[in-house]
Amino acid sequence: MSQEKREKIAVDKLDPKFKDQVAQERGGEMIVRCFACGTCSASCPVRQANDRFNPRRIIHMVLLGLKDEVLSDDFVWLCAGCFSCQERCPQGVKIGDLMTALRNIAVREGHIHPSFTAQMNLLGKAGRLMEIGDFENKKRGRFKLPPIQQDAAEVRTLLEKCGVLQPEEVQDRGGG
Ligand code: SF4
Ligand code: SF4
Repeated sequence: MSQEKREKIAVDKLDPKFKDQVAQERGGEMIVRCFACGTCSASCPVRQANDRFNPRRIIHMVLLGLKDEVLSDDFVWLCAGCFSCQERCPQGVKIGDLMTALRNIAVREGHIHPSFTAQMNLLGKAGRLMEIGDFENKKRGRFKLPPIQQDAAEVRTLLEKCGVLQPEEVQDRGGG
């Protein structure tokens, strides 16, 4: 059994309104119903692979008001969205949706995981998450598939219009 690290909580740094903020976010509405039974954590495949991810603990942190700790930590990005927890929660907390709500708040408050920034930049630069070059096109040719031209203009326009990518972000990385 894993031993979670015990940490002191600075009461003056708690944000008692954080749970209300989460409850007002789509997907977070049911958070205050949680009675900490732990069914979500016991059902979670990510929890089994990574001790740092514990849905019951994350919910408890939100209810306590540990806003900065929740939003700035990597663990809000680890949920795989499998909904095993959501199917089993006796209180209907909708934990998978809640994790999305937390990520949405995190992004709005400037905490976006660098792996997502990197993916957005790659999409803006290449139009896909895997750059296609001569090597890949030669392999395609062997299977009589047409070469793929790398053209990210449409995808980049979409990302810019959605506000997830600024034009200079791609240019800074050498994108066309
Ligand atoms: S299964 Fe539901 S009630 Fe139980 S700890 Fe998880 S969120 Fe809370
Ligand atoms: S939806 Fe997320 S929190 Fe729930 S069981 Fe799956 S990985 Fe774990």
